[in-house]
Amino acid sequence: MIQSKGYAAQSASAPLTPFSFERRDPGPKDVVVEIAYSGICHSDIHQVRDEWGGSMYPMVPGHEIVGKVTAVGSAVKKFKVGDLAGVGVTVQTCMECENCLAHAEPYCKKGMVGTYNAKDYDGSVTYGGYANNIVAPEHYVYSVSPKLDLAAVAPLLCAGITTWSPLKHWNVGPGKKVGVVGLGGLGHMALKFAHSLGAQVTLFTTSEGKIADGKRLGANEVVISKDAEAMKKQAGSFDFIIDCVSADHDINAYLSLLRLDGTICLVGLPEKGVQVSSFAIVANRHSLSGSMIGGMQETQEMLDYCAEHNIVSDIELIGVEKIDEAYNRVVKADVKYRFVIDMKSLAA
Ligand SMILES: [Zn+2]
Ligand SMILES: [Zn+2]
Repeated sequence: MIQSKGYAAQSASAPLTPFSFERRDPGPKDVVVEIAYSGICHSDIHQVRDEWGGSMYPMVPGHEIVGKVTAVGSAVKKFKVGDLAGVGVTVQTCMECENCLAHAEPYCKKGMVGTYNAKDYDGSVTYGGYANNIVAPEHYVYSVSPKLDLAAVAPLLCAGITTWSPLKHWNVGPGKKVGVVGLGGLGHMALKFAHSLGAQVTLFTTSEGKIADGKRLGANEVVISKDAEAMKKQAGSFDFIIDCVSADHDINAYLSLLRLDGTICLVGLPEKGVQVSSFAIVANRHSLSGSMIGGMQETQEMLDYCAEHNIVSDIELIGVEKIDEAYNRVVKADVKYRFVIDMKSLAA
């Protein structure tokens, strides 16, 4: 077994504390990654605090992982020792169902295995990236370019692919008018990608304090969503809207902004779900959809695109001792725009 050192939650109410545990020895298809940086995703907090139910403790969170390959199994082809690598939200799927075969592994019919707080197919519990190493099958490990700031790559593994996948699926590009709802970890990546892909981009935010940042990150225009007049002016004009808000909010206000055959896609997870007016969806043949992370192939495509176009996440780098403080700030939306843990601080 491989010795691992990390930070774990022992219960839904306890702060994260140092935790030693073991990982499996690498099998023929496995890659061992020494973790350099691990991003903090809002879903880490939901799971640590058992807000979605079914949490297992001790829990080592983290699914925005980057580092260096330290060992590879005998059948591994893509990686060698010393390569930069990333691991995201998924570490196992069945690889046989129609969704896996269509490179849509997060929608695996057997159920994808999450990087942490999940039971792997062999019954073992998975531990995530707030640790000094991880073992994962090659299929779920990505190549990372040395051209990019490695710490700022980490959030691409969840926040990045979660926004990239729907933007690509709905063919966002030149000539398309795209709305991004909410400027947080997801929203800031959606702005960067939609802008880079050549779309005309509008940010919707409740906060006037985010106008300047929205424009810096790629919005051509920022609309304060509380301003009914400003919203009315946008009616019937959007091809695609990506809704990145996890707080409860009125989605009908955005449905009415779509043009004929326009689509709104949810990537946030509001606790109460969404209430949809049938008129808002029937009018103009609107589609309401959702999207969850992304497949392995498109995740690698996104990372390659980011290397080519010099795109990373805006981050605040912290040591492990600041995890609890960071959690409280994420809940208050007080971060620009993702916390990343420097794993060197584990050894300190
Ligand atoms: Zn995440
Ligand atoms: Zn499958």
